[in-house]
Amino acid sequence: MNSIRGRLTLAYAIVLALTLAMFSAVLLSASRGAAERAIKSRVEDVAELASVLLQQAGTAALPVVATTDSVIGQELSAGVRRLLSGLPGYIIVTDTARVLYASAAVERLTTKDRGALTRAVFRELTPDQPGGIVALDSARLFVLAHFETPSARVPIYRVVAGEPAQSLDLSRLDIFASVTVAFPVLLLLSVLVAWVLAGASLRPIDRLIGELEAIQDGRSLHRRLPVETDENELDRLAGTINAMIARLEGSFAALRRFTADASHELKTPLTVLRADIERAMQSPQVSMDQLPALEEALAETTRMADLVESLLTLARADEGRFDIHREVVALAPLVEDVYETAAMLAESSGARVELRRLDPATVSGDPVRLRQLLLNLVTNALKYTSRGGKVTLALELRGERVAFSVQDTGLGIAAADLPFIFDRFWRADRARSRGGERGGFGLGLAIAQWIAHAHGGNINVASRLGRGSTFTVSLPVMPSPNVIESSSEPTG
Ligand code: ADP
Repeated sequence: MNSIRGRLTLAYAIVLALTLAMFSAVLLSASRGAAERAIKSRVEDVAELASVLLQQAGTAALPVVATTDSVIGQELSAGVRRLLSGLPGYIIVTDTARVLYASAAVERLTTKDRGALTRAVFRELTPDQPGGIVALDSARLFVLAHFETPSARVPIYRVVAGEPAQSLDLSRLDIFASVTVAFPVLLLLSVLVAWVLAGASLRPIDRLIGELEAIQDGRSLHRRLPVETDENELDRLAGTINAMIARLEGSFAALRRFTADASHELKTPLTVLRADIERAMQSPQVSMDQLPALEEALAETTRMADLVESLLTLARADEGRFDIHREVVALAPLVEDVYETAAMLAESSGARVELRRLDPATVSGDPVRLRQLLLNLVTNALKYTSRGGKVTLALELRGERVAFSVQDTGLGIAAADLPFIFDRFWRADRARSRGGERGGFGLGLAIAQWIAHAHGGNINVASRLGRGSTFTVSLPVMPSPNVIESSSEPTG
Protein backbone atom coordinates (compact mmCIF):
# COMPACT_ATOMS: atom_id res chain seq x y z
CA MET A 1 0.00 0.00 0.00
CA ASN A 2 3.06 2.22 -0.08
CA SER A 3 2.99 2.55 -3.83
CA ILE A 4 1.39 5.62 -5.38
CA ARG A 5 -1.14 3.29 -6.96
CA GLY A 6 -2.10 1.88 -3.54
CA ARG A 7 -2.29 5.31 -1.96
CA LEU A 8 -4.45 6.71 -4.76
CA THR A 9 -6.80 3.75 -4.47
CA LEU A 10 -7.02 4.15 -0.68
CA ALA A 11 -7.75 7.89 -0.94
CA TYR A 12 -10.38 7.22 -3.59
CA ALA A 13 -11.97 4.49 -1.44
CA ILE A 14 -12.15 6.80 1.60
CA VAL A 15 -13.71 9.66 -0.38
CA LEU A 16 -16.15 7.28 -2.02
CA ALA A 17 -17.10 5.65 1.30
CA LEU A 18 -17.84 9.09 2.78
CA THR A 19 -19.88 10.11 -0.28
CA LEU A 20 -21.80 6.84 -0.24
CA ALA A 21 -22.45 7.20 3.51
CA MET A 22 -23.78 10.73 3.02
CA PHE A 23 -25.89 9.66 0.06
CA SER A 24 -27.30 6.70 2.02
CA ALA A 25 -28.15 9.00 4.96
CA VAL A 26 -30.05 11.38 2.64
CA LEU A 27 -31.81 8.46 0.97
CA LEU A 28 -32.80 6.85 4.29
CA SER A 29 -34.03 10.15 5.70
CA ALA A 30 -36.13 10.80 2.59
CA SER A 31 -37.52 7.29 2.77
CA ARG A 32 -38.31 7.75 6.45
CA GLY A 33 -40.14 11.01 5.67
CA ALA A 34 -42.23 9.17 3.09
CA ALA A 35 -43.02 6.38 5.57
CA GLU A 36 -44.00 8.98 8.16
CA ARG A 37 -46.31 10.69 5.71
CA ALA A 38 -47.87 7.35 4.77
CA ILE A 39 -48.54 6.29 8.36
CA LYS A 40 -49.87 9.75 9.19
CA SER A 41 -52.27 9.69 6.29
CA ARG A 42 -53.53 6.17 7.18
CA VAL A 43 -54.06 7.09 10.82
CA GLU A 44 -55.68 10.37 9.85
CA ASP A 45 -58.09 8.48 7.57
CA VAL A 46 -59.07 6.11 10.38
CA ALA A 47 -59.59 8.99 12.84
CA GLU A 48 -61.57 10.87 10.24
CA LEU A 49 -63.72 7.81 9.50
CA ALA A 50 -64.36 7.19 13.19
CA SER A 51 -65.33 10.84 13.62
CA VAL A 52 -67.71 10.68 10.61
CA LEU A 53 -69.28 7.48 11.97
CA LEU A 54 -69.85 9.17 15.34
CA GLN A 55 -71.36 12.31 13.79
CA GLN A 56 -73.62 10.21 11.54
CA ALA A 57 -74.73 8.16 14.51
CA GLY A 58 -75.65 11.47 16.20
CA THR A 59 -77.76 12.62 13.26
CA ALA A 60 -79.37 9.21 12.79
CA ALA A 61 -80.78 9.56 16.25
CA LEU A 62 -78.81 6.55 17.38
CA PRO A 63 -77.82 6.99 21.02
CA VAL A 64 -74.13 7.82 20.85
CA VAL A 65 -73.40 7.54 24.53
CA ALA A 66 -74.92 5.49 27.24
CA THR A 67 -74.58 6.03 30.93
CA THR A 68 -73.30 3.08 32.85
CA ASP A 69 -72.65 3.26 36.54
CA SER A 70 -71.55 6.27 38.50
CA VAL A 71 -67.90 5.11 38.61
CA ILE A 72 -67.33 4.79 34.92
CA GLY A 73 -69.82 7.47 33.97
CA GLN A 74 -70.55 7.55 30.24
CA GLU A 75 -69.39 5.29 27.46
CA LEU A 76 -70.29 4.87 23.82
CA SER A 77 -73.49 3.01 23.17
CA ALA A 78 -73.26 -0.61 22.08
CA GLY A 79 -74.42 0.18 18.50
CA VAL A 80 -71.75 2.83 18.01
CA ARG A 81 -69.13 0.57 19.59
CA ARG A 82 -70.01 -2.10 17.04
CA LEU A 83 -69.60 0.41 14.24
CA LEU A 84 -66.20 1.50 15.49
CA SER A 85 -65.01 -2.04 16.14
CA GLY A 86 -64.82 -2.54 12.39
CA LEU A 87 -62.01 0.05 12.16
CA PRO A 88 -58.41 -1.15 12.31
CA GLY A 89 -55.75 -0.35 14.92
CA TYR A 90 -55.82 1.58 18.14
CA ILE A 91 -58.85 3.85 18.59
CA ILE A 92 -59.70 5.90 21.65
CA VAL A 93 -62.70 8.18 21.86
CA THR A 94 -62.86 10.65 24.74
CA ASP A 95 -64.98 13.52 25.95
CA THR A 96 -63.09 16.36 27.51
CA ALA A 97 -62.18 14.39 30.63
CA ARG A 98 -62.76 10.67 30.18
CA VAL A 99 -62.29 7.80 27.81
CA LEU A 100 -65.61 6.84 26.22
CA TYR A 101 -64.31 4.06 24.02
CA ALA A 102 -61.13 2.08 23.56
CA SER A 103 -60.74 -0.37 20.66
CA ALA A 104 -59.91 -4.03 21.12
CA ALA A 105 -56.25 -3.33 20.26
CA VAL A 106 -56.09 -0.83 23.16
CA GLU A 107 -57.81 -3.29 25.47
CA ARG A 108 -55.20 -5.92 24.63
CA LEU A 109 -52.39 -3.68 25.97
CA THR A 110 -51.14 -4.25 29.50
CA THR A 111 -52.69 -2.09 32.18
CA LYS A 112 -49.48 -0.11 32.42
CA ASP A 113 -49.26 0.51 28.67
CA ARG A 114 -52.95 1.37 28.50
CA GLY A 115 -52.48 3.90 31.33
CA ALA A 116 -49.44 5.39 29.59
CA LEU A 117 -51.33 5.67 26.31
CA THR A 118 -54.35 7.30 27.93
CA ARG A 119 -52.14 9.79 29.76
CA ALA A 120 -50.35 10.67 26.56
CA VAL A 121 -53.67 11.11 24.75
CA PHE A 122 -54.92 13.57 27.36
CA ARG A 123 -51.69 15.41 28.01
CA GLU A 124 -49.73 15.46 24.81
CA LEU A 125 -52.24 15.53 21.98
CA THR A 126 -53.57 19.08 21.60
CA PRO A 127 -55.25 20.84 18.64
CA ASP A 128 -51.87 22.46 17.96
CA GLN A 129 -49.90 19.22 18.23
CA PRO A 130 -52.43 16.55 17.33
CA GLY A 131 -50.01 13.69 16.46
CA GLY A 132 -46.84 12.05 17.69
CA ILE A 133 -45.07 8.92 18.79
CA VAL A 134 -45.97 7.32 22.12
CA ALA A 135 -43.41 4.88 23.43
CA LEU A 136 -45.01 2.05 25.39
CA ASP A 137 -43.29 -0.94 26.93
CA SER A 138 -44.66 -3.29 24.29
CA ALA A 139 -44.54 -1.03 21.23
CA ARG A 140 -44.05 2.41 19.82
CA LEU A 141 -47.32 3.84 18.49
CA PHE A 142 -47.97 6.68 16.13
CA VAL A 143 -51.17 8.37 17.34
CA LEU A 144 -53.21 11.23 15.94
CA ALA A 145 -56.20 12.98 17.45
CA HIS A 146 -59.18 14.40 15.64
CA PHE A 147 -60.73 17.13 17.79
CA GLU A 148 -64.50 17.70 17.76
CA THR A 149 -66.79 20.25 19.29
CA PRO A 150 -68.80 18.33 21.90
CA SER A 151 -72.59 18.69 21.59
CA ALA A 152 -75.38 17.43 23.74
CA ARG A 153 -76.10 14.55 21.37
CA VAL A 154 -72.52 13.83 20.51
CA PRO A 155 -70.45 14.77 23.56
CA ILE A 156 -67.22 13.72 21.87
CA TYR A 157 -64.07 15.84 22.15
CA ARG A 158 -61.29 13.60 20.80
CA VAL A 159 -61.17 10.73 18.38
CA VAL A 160 -57.68 9.25 18.51
CA ALA A 161 -56.39 6.67 16.03
CA GLY A 162 -53.01 5.00 16.15
CA GLU A 163 -50.92 2.25 14.68
CA PRO A 164 -47.56 0.69 15.50
CA ALA A 165 -44.68 2.88 14.31
CA GLN A 166 -42.21 0.06 13.52
CA SER A 167 -42.47 0.96 9.87
CA LEU A 168 -40.55 4.12 10.78
CA ASP A 169 -37.59 2.12 12.17
CA LEU A 170 -34.54 2.52 9.94
CA SER A 171 -34.18 -1.21 9.47
CA ARG A 172 -37.81 -1.56 8.32
CA LEU A 173 -37.55 1.06 5.62
CA ASP A 174 -37.99 -0.40 2.11
CA ILE A 175 -34.66 0.85 0.85
CA PHE A 176 -32.65 -0.18 3.94
CA ALA A 177 -31.79 -3.63 2.55
CA SER A 178 -30.87 -2.20 -0.84
CA VAL A 179 -28.66 0.45 0.75
CA THR A 180 -26.85 -2.01 3.03
CA VAL A 181 -26.23 -4.41 0.15
CA ALA A 182 -25.37 -1.74 -2.41
CA PHE A 183 -22.96 0.12 -0.11
CA PRO A 184 -20.23 -2.58 0.14
CA VAL A 185 -20.79 -3.81 -3.41
CA LEU A 186 -20.46 -0.29 -4.84
CA LEU A 187 -17.46 0.42 -2.65
CA LEU A 188 -15.72 -2.79 -3.71
CA LEU A 189 -16.46 -2.20 -7.39
CA SER A 190 -15.21 1.36 -7.18
CA VAL A 191 -12.03 0.32 -5.37
CA LEU A 192 -11.39 -2.19 -8.17
CA VAL A 193 -12.06 0.44 -10.82
CA ALA A 194 -9.83 2.91 -8.93
CA TRP A 195 -7.04 0.30 -8.76
CA VAL A 196 -7.29 -0.34 -12.50
CA LEU A 197 -7.50 3.38 -13.35
CA ALA A 198 -4.59 4.29 -11.05
CA GLY A 199 -2.58 1.45 -12.63
CA ALA A 200 -3.43 2.68 -16.13
CA SER A 201 -2.49 6.27 -15.37
CA LEU A 202 0.76 5.21 -13.70
CA ARG A 203 1.72 2.79 -16.47
CA PRO A 204 3.66 5.45 -18.42
CA ILE A 205 5.72 6.07 -15.26
CA ASP A 206 6.36 2.33 -14.92
CA ARG A 207 7.51 2.26 -18.54
CA LEU A 208 9.74 5.26 -17.88
CA ILE A 209 11.30 3.51 -14.87
CA GLY A 210 11.86 0.33 -16.92
CA GLU A 211 13.56 2.29 -19.70
CA LEU A 212 15.67 4.26 -17.23
CA GLU A 213 16.76 1.04 -15.52
CA ALA A 214 17.95 -0.27 -18.87
CA ILE A 215 19.97 2.90 -19.43
CA GLN A 216 21.53 3.25 -16.00
CA ASP A 217 24.27 0.62 -16.45
CA GLY A 218 26.54 3.30 -17.94
CA ARG A 219 27.12 1.43 -21.20
CA SER A 220 23.71 2.34 -22.59
CA LEU A 221 24.06 6.09 -22.20
CA HIS A 222 23.56 6.50 -25.95
CA ARG A 223 19.94 5.42 -25.49
CA ARG A 224 17.19 7.98 -24.92
CA LEU A 225 13.70 7.86 -23.43
CA PRO A 226 10.89 8.15 -25.97
CA VAL A 227 9.20 11.60 -25.98
CA GLU A 228 5.94 11.76 -27.93
CA THR A 229 4.77 15.34 -27.40
CA ASP A 230 5.89 18.19 -25.22
CA GLU A 231 2.47 18.67 -23.72
CA ASN A 232 2.14 16.15 -20.96
CA GLU A 233 4.14 16.17 -17.73
CA LEU A 234 5.69 12.76 -18.27
CA ASP A 235 7.00 13.67 -21.70
CA ARG A 236 8.50 16.83 -20.24
CA LEU A 237 10.11 14.74 -17.50
CA ALA A 238 11.47 12.31 -20.12
CA GLY A 239 12.82 15.28 -22.09
CA THR A 240 14.62 16.63 -19.00
CA ILE A 241 16.06 13.20 -18.18
CA ASN A 242 17.21 12.85 -21.81
CA ALA A 243 19.05 16.17 -21.55
CA MET A 244 20.69 14.96 -18.34
CA ILE A 245 21.70 11.63 -19.92
CA ALA A 246 23.15 13.52 -22.88
CA ARG A 247 25.31 15.62 -20.53
CA LEU A 248 26.38 12.47 -18.64
CA GLU A 249 27.20 10.72 -21.90
CA GLY A 250 29.34 13.70 -22.91
CA SER A 251 31.23 13.67 -19.61
CA PHE A 252 31.76 9.91 -19.69
CA ALA A 253 33.00 10.05 -23.25
CA ALA A 254 35.38 12.91 -22.41
CA LEU A 255 36.72 10.97 -19.42
CA ARG A 256 37.23 7.81 -21.47
CA ARG A 257 38.87 9.74 -24.28
CA PHE A 258 41.17 11.45 -21.80
CA THR A 259 42.25 8.12 -20.25
CA ALA A 260 42.75 6.55 -23.66
CA ASP A 261 44.66 9.57 -25.02
CA ALA A 262 46.78 9.99 -21.88
CA SER A 263 47.70 6.27 -21.83
CA HIS A 264 48.46 6.35 -25.51
CA GLU A 265 50.67 9.45 -25.14
CA LEU A 266 52.53 7.86 -22.21
CA LYS A 267 53.33 4.66 -24.09
CA THR A 268 56.03 6.09 -26.36
CA PRO A 269 58.06 8.01 -23.74
CA LEU A 270 57.94 4.95 -21.48
CA THR A 271 59.25 2.71 -24.25
CA VAL A 272 62.05 5.20 -24.98
CA LEU A 273 62.85 5.44 -21.25
CA ARG A 274 63.02 1.67 -20.94
CA ALA A 275 65.31 1.36 -23.94
CA ASP A 276 67.54 4.13 -22.55
CA ILE A 277 67.79 2.45 -19.13
CA GLU A 278 68.58 -0.92 -20.73
CA ARG A 279 71.25 0.71 -22.89
CA ALA A 280 72.71 2.51 -19.87
CA MET A 281 72.84 -0.77 -17.94
CA GLN A 282 74.85 -2.40 -20.72
CA SER A 283 77.25 0.53 -21.04
CA PRO A 284 80.84 -0.29 -19.93
CA GLN A 285 81.07 3.03 -18.05
CA VAL A 286 78.30 2.09 -15.65
CA SER A 287 79.71 1.38 -12.20
CA MET A 288 78.59 -1.42 -9.87
CA ASP A 289 77.12 1.23 -7.51
CA GLN A 290 74.89 2.59 -10.21
CA LEU A 291 73.57 -0.80 -11.34
CA PRO A 292 71.01 -1.38 -8.52
CA ALA A 293 69.53 2.10 -9.09
CA LEU A 294 69.24 1.42 -12.82
CA GLU A 295 67.66 -2.00 -12.14
CA GLU A 296 65.13 -0.36 -9.84
CA ALA A 297 64.40 2.29 -12.49
CA LEU A 298 63.92 -0.43 -15.11
CA ALA A 299 61.52 -2.39 -12.85
CA GLU A 300 59.47 0.76 -12.14
CA THR A 301 59.38 1.72 -15.79
CA THR A 302 58.21 -1.78 -16.74
CA ARG A 303 55.52 -1.62 -14.06
CA MET A 304 54.38 1.79 -15.30
CA ALA A 305 54.30 0.52 -18.89
CA ASP A 306 52.11 -2.39 -17.70
CA LEU A 307 49.76 0.06 -15.97
CA VAL A 308 49.53 2.24 -19.06
CA GLU A 309 48.85 -0.85 -21.19
CA SER A 310 46.07 -1.98 -18.83
CA LEU A 311 44.52 1.48 -18.72
CA LEU A 312 44.58 1.70 -22.49
CA THR A 313 42.97 -1.73 -22.80
CA LEU A 314 40.11 -0.77 -20.46
CA ALA A 315 39.65 2.73 -21.94
CA ARG A 316 39.40 1.26 -25.44
CA ALA A 317 37.07 -1.47 -24.22
CA ASP A 318 34.81 1.22 -22.70
CA GLU A 319 34.81 3.18 -25.92
CA GLY A 320 33.91 0.00 -27.78
CA ARG A 321 37.01 0.52 -29.92
CA PHE A 322 38.61 -2.77 -28.96
CA ASP A 323 37.71 -5.33 -31.56
CA ILE A 324 37.81 -8.92 -30.54
CA HIS A 325 39.41 -10.81 -33.42
CA ARG A 326 37.27 -13.86 -33.38
CA GLU A 327 38.41 -17.23 -34.61
CA VAL A 328 37.82 -20.84 -33.66
CA VAL A 329 39.93 -21.45 -30.55
CA ALA A 330 40.62 -24.90 -29.11
CA LEU A 331 40.82 -24.22 -25.39
CA ALA A 332 42.66 -27.38 -24.30
CA PRO A 333 46.02 -26.46 -25.94
CA LEU A 334 45.62 -22.88 -24.62
CA VAL A 335 45.08 -24.16 -21.08
CA GLU A 336 48.04 -26.55 -21.41
CA ASP A 337 50.20 -23.64 -22.51
CA VAL A 338 48.99 -21.50 -19.57
CA TYR A 339 49.63 -24.47 -17.27
CA GLU A 340 53.24 -24.71 -18.45
CA THR A 341 53.78 -20.97 -17.90
CA ALA A 342 52.20 -21.30 -14.45
CA ALA A 343 54.45 -24.25 -13.59
CA MET A 344 57.48 -22.13 -14.47
CA LEU A 345 56.27 -19.19 -12.41
CA ALA A 346 55.49 -21.54 -9.54
CA GLU A 347 59.10 -22.69 -9.35
CA SER A 348 60.14 -19.29 -8.05
CA SER A 349 57.09 -18.86 -5.83
CA GLY A 350 57.32 -22.29 -4.20
CA ALA A 351 53.73 -23.29 -4.87
CA ARG A 352 52.62 -26.43 -6.70
CA VAL A 353 50.55 -26.27 -9.88
CA GLU A 354 48.29 -29.13 -11.01
CA LEU A 355 46.15 -29.66 -14.09
CA ARG A 356 43.23 -31.72 -12.79
CA ARG A 357 41.16 -32.12 -15.93
CA LEU A 358 41.37 -31.09 -19.57
CA ASP A 359 38.19 -31.60 -21.61
CA PRO A 360 38.42 -30.78 -25.31
CA ALA A 361 36.35 -27.65 -26.04
CA THR A 362 36.21 -25.10 -28.81
CA VAL A 363 35.05 -21.51 -28.46
CA SER A 364 34.71 -18.63 -30.83
CA GLY A 365 37.06 -15.92 -29.58
CA ASP A 366 40.28 -13.99 -29.61
CA PRO A 367 43.12 -16.38 -28.60
CA VAL A 368 45.37 -13.53 -27.41
CA ARG A 369 42.68 -12.07 -25.15
CA LEU A 370 41.61 -15.52 -23.90
CA ARG A 371 45.20 -16.33 -23.00
CA GLN A 372 45.43 -12.98 -21.18
CA LEU A 373 42.25 -13.83 -19.25
CA LEU A 374 43.49 -17.27 -18.16
CA LEU A 375 46.96 -15.97 -17.29
CA ASN A 376 45.51 -13.12 -15.19
CA LEU A 377 43.65 -15.62 -13.02
CA VAL A 378 46.58 -18.02 -12.78
CA THR A 379 49.14 -15.32 -11.88
CA ASN A 380 46.75 -13.96 -9.23
CA ALA A 381 46.39 -17.46 -7.76
CA LEU A 382 50.19 -17.82 -7.58
CA LYS A 383 50.61 -14.27 -6.25
CA TYR A 384 48.22 -14.83 -3.35
CA THR A 385 49.28 -18.41 -2.49
CA SER A 386 52.11 -18.91 -0.03
CA ARG A 387 55.05 -21.24 -0.42
CA GLY A 388 53.94 -24.88 -0.16
CA GLY A 389 50.42 -24.06 -1.36
CA LYS A 390 48.69 -25.57 -4.35
CA VAL A 391 47.05 -24.14 -7.48
CA THR A 392 44.76 -26.49 -9.43
CA LEU A 393 43.64 -25.78 -12.98
CA ALA A 394 40.79 -27.56 -14.75
CA LEU A 395 38.93 -27.24 -18.05
CA GLU A 396 35.53 -28.90 -17.89
CA LEU A 397 32.76 -29.17 -20.43
CA ARG A 398 29.35 -28.49 -18.87
CA GLY A 399 26.70 -28.91 -21.55
CA GLU A 400 26.66 -25.84 -23.78
CA ARG A 401 29.39 -24.13 -21.77
CA VAL A 402 32.96 -24.76 -20.85
CA ALA A 403 34.37 -23.84 -17.45
CA PHE A 404 37.99 -23.00 -16.78
CA SER A 405 38.67 -22.98 -13.05
CA VAL A 406 41.67 -21.89 -11.02
CA GLN A 407 41.58 -23.12 -7.45
CA ASP A 408 44.21 -22.01 -4.95
CA THR A 409 44.94 -22.72 -1.30
CA GLY A 410 46.09 -19.15 -0.73
CA LEU A 411 45.02 -16.14 1.31
CA GLY A 412 41.40 -16.14 0.20
CA ILE A 413 39.16 -13.08 0.05
CA ALA A 414 36.92 -11.81 2.85
CA ALA A 415 33.21 -12.12 2.10
CA ALA A 416 32.82 -8.35 2.54
CA ASP A 417 35.46 -7.75 -0.18
CA LEU A 418 34.04 -10.17 -2.76
CA PRO A 419 31.58 -7.70 -4.34
CA PHE A 420 34.44 -5.28 -5.13
CA ILE A 421 37.20 -7.47 -6.51
CA PHE A 422 36.25 -6.79 -10.15
CA ASP A 423 36.20 -3.01 -9.58
CA ARG A 424 39.01 -1.04 -11.18
CA PHE A 425 41.96 -0.22 -8.93
CA TRP A 426 40.39 -2.19 -6.13
CA ARG A 427 42.85 -4.25 -4.11
CA ALA A 428 42.46 -5.92 -0.77
CA ASP A 429 45.08 -4.96 1.81
CA ARG A 430 48.20 -3.97 -0.13
CA ALA A 431 50.37 -5.56 2.56
CA ARG A 432 48.98 -8.92 1.50
CA SER A 433 51.05 -9.12 -1.64
CA ARG A 434 53.42 -11.92 -0.96
CA GLY A 435 56.91 -11.43 0.46
CA GLY A 436 56.87 -7.65 0.19
CA GLU A 437 56.83 -8.11 -3.56
CA ARG A 438 54.66 -5.45 -5.12
CA GLY A 439 51.27 -6.54 -6.25
CA GLY A 440 49.47 -5.31 -9.33
CA PHE A 441 47.31 -2.25 -9.72
CA GLY A 442 43.93 -3.82 -9.17
CA LEU A 443 43.14 -3.80 -12.91
CA GLY A 444 43.81 -7.47 -13.73
CA LEU A 445 40.39 -8.81 -12.72
CA ALA A 446 38.58 -5.85 -14.33
CA ILE A 447 40.30 -6.72 -17.63
CA ALA A 448 39.63 -10.44 -17.13
CA GLN A 449 35.94 -9.72 -16.61
CA TRP A 450 35.76 -7.50 -19.66
CA ILE A 451 37.33 -10.25 -21.80
CA ALA A 452 34.90 -12.86 -20.41
CA HIS A 453 31.89 -10.59 -21.10
CA ALA A 454 33.15 -9.77 -24.60
CA HIS A 455 33.11 -13.55 -25.27
CA GLY A 456 29.54 -13.98 -23.94
CA GLY A 457 30.86 -15.50 -20.72
CA ASN A 458 31.25 -14.60 -17.07
CA ILE A 459 33.56 -15.08 -14.10
CA ASN A 460 32.44 -16.44 -10.74
CA VAL A 461 34.44 -16.49 -7.58
CA ALA A 462 34.09 -18.55 -4.42
CA SER A 463 36.49 -17.73 -1.64
CA ARG A 464 37.08 -18.05 2.09
CA LEU A 465 39.57 -15.94 3.96
CA GLY A 466 42.60 -18.04 4.87
CA ARG A 467 41.35 -21.10 2.93
CA GLY A 468 41.80 -20.08 -0.69
CA SER A 469 39.78 -19.04 -3.71
CA THR A 470 38.30 -20.58 -6.83
CA PHE A 471 37.82 -18.39 -9.91
CA THR A 472 35.70 -19.98 -12.64
CA VAL A 473 35.37 -18.60 -16.17
CA SER A 474 32.38 -19.92 -18.04
CA LEU A 475 32.25 -19.50 -21.83
CA PRO A 476 29.76 -20.68 -24.45
CA VAL A 477 31.20 -23.53 -26.53
CA MET A 478 31.09 -23.98 -30.28
CA PRO A 479 30.10 -27.38 -31.60
CA SER A 480 33.44 -29.17 -32.27
CA PRO A 481 34.66 -28.83 -35.91
CA ASN A 482 34.38 -32.56 -36.73
CA VAL A 483 30.74 -32.53 -35.57
CA ILE A 484 30.09 -29.61 -37.93
CA GLU A 485 31.85 -31.42 -40.74
CA SER A 486 30.04 -34.71 -40.26
CA SER A 487 26.68 -33.03 -39.94
CA SER A 488 27.24 -30.83 -42.99
CA GLU A 489 28.47 -33.74 -45.14
CA PRO A 490 25.88 -34.84 -47.66
CA THR A 491 24.70 -38.37 -46.93
CA GLY A 492 25.34 -41.16 -49.41
P1 ADP B 1 46.00 -7.12 -8.63
O1 ADP B 1 46.80 -6.74 -9.80
O2 ADP B 1 46.16 -6.24 -7.46
O3 ADP B 1 46.12 -8.58 -8.33
P2 ADP B 1 43.41 -7.81 -9.58
O4 ADP B 1 42.35 -7.01 -10.23
O5 ADP B 1 43.93 -8.97 -10.34
O6 ADP B 1 44.53 -6.83 -9.13
O7 ADP B 1 42.84 -8.32 -8.21
C1 ADP B 1 42.18 -7.43 -7.36
C2 ADP B 1 42.32 -7.88 -5.93
O8 ADP B 1 41.60 -9.09 -5.73
C3 ADP B 1 43.72 -8.21 -5.54
O9 ADP B 1 44.40 -7.06 -5.08
C4 ADP B 1 43.55 -9.20 -4.42
O10 ADP B 1 43.33 -8.52 -3.19
C5 ADP B 1 42.27 -9.90 -4.79
N1 ADP B 1 42.53 -11.21 -5.42
C6 ADP B 1 42.52 -11.50 -6.74
N2 ADP B 1 42.78 -12.81 -6.95
C7 ADP B 1 42.97 -13.37 -5.72
C8 ADP B 1 43.28 -14.70 -5.26
N3 ADP B 1 43.43 -15.73 -6.11
N4 ADP B 1 43.39 -14.89 -3.93
C9 ADP B 1 43.21 -13.86 -3.07
N5 ADP B 1 42.93 -12.61 -3.43
C10 ADP B 1 42.81 -12.35 -4.75
